[in-house]
Amino acid sequence: MIIKITGAEPKDIVITGMASNPGITVKSYEESGSPSHSAQVNPFIFTKTLAALAVESGANIVIGSATAINYGDDGKAIKSVQYLDSGTSKTLVATDVLISAGPWTPKIFPRAHLGAPRGRSIVVRPSKGFSPFVLDANIGPAPHGPLKDDLFLEIFPRPGDELNDFDIFSSCGLDDYDVRLPATGDSVEVDEESCNDIWETLRSVSQDTRRRVNHKASVL
Ligand SMILES: Cc1cc2nc3c(=O)[nH]c(=O)nc-3n(C[C@H](O)[C@H](O)[C@H](O)COP(=O)(O)OP(=O)(O)OC[C@H]3O[C@@H](n4cnc5c(N)ncnc54)[C@H](O)[C@@H]3O)c2cc1C
Repeated sequence: MIIKITGAEPKDIVITGMASNPGITVKSYEESGSPSHSAQVNPFIFTKTLAALAVESGANIVIGSATAINYGDDGKAIKSVQYLDSGTSKTLVATDVLISAGPWTPKIFPRAHLGAPRGRSIVVRPSKGFSPFVLDANIGPAPHGPLKDDLFLEIFPRPGDELNDFDIFSSCGLDDYDVRLPATGDSVEVDEESCNDIWETLRSVSQDTRRRVNHKASVL
């Protein structure tokens, strides 16, 4: 990922309308990456592509929800994985298991202790194009705006792709450690107030963030 500003002066950066907004003062900035050794990926397309390459190389993909790892009599060597396939419990014989269930990992492997903060982000469709630079920005409150405190935002421009036929940028606020991990990513509850703060902060620095597409909550 490109973090902060890469190869650009602040006037060229990210949110169109930002540079021309006379109320904005950029107090300081630093670069922390260049296109030669950093990139952004769309996680969904990236994962789908990796899976397709694995199949091409002979992997067999079984889709289901893992419910348990079964061990042999010594309680150590793995025997199989139990999973649900459309509500039916099935067993997959295995000697080696790689667990990548993100924050849900402890549910099937309780020895793993993972925190699961809730992320907050909104997706915005700008009215004009934008530069391809990721910006980590600490943005102070607008003089006459509704917010009182600085907000740290990670702003990611994304060109139109397989998922969106238009350009978007998404912006994330601070993580939230106060909520319990829900059963699935889809059931993470959106914190409307925090998402509105992100929106207000973005609007305070850009004339061009015309349209908020949606807001999202997700576990990290
Ligand atoms: C808004 C936001 C912005 C982020 N930005 C960045 C960034 O810029 N750079 C960066 O490096 N990271 C970023 N992250 C963090 C990054 O997304 C995570 O670190 C990464 O997704 C973790 O990958 P993972 O495969 O370990 O887990 P996950 O992506 O959480 O994937 C786990 C998968 O396992 C599935 N699963 C869970 N339980 C089971 C089960 N029992 N059986 C089968 N499947 C199961 C889940 O449905 C999920 O699909 C961001 C996260 C958020 C929320």
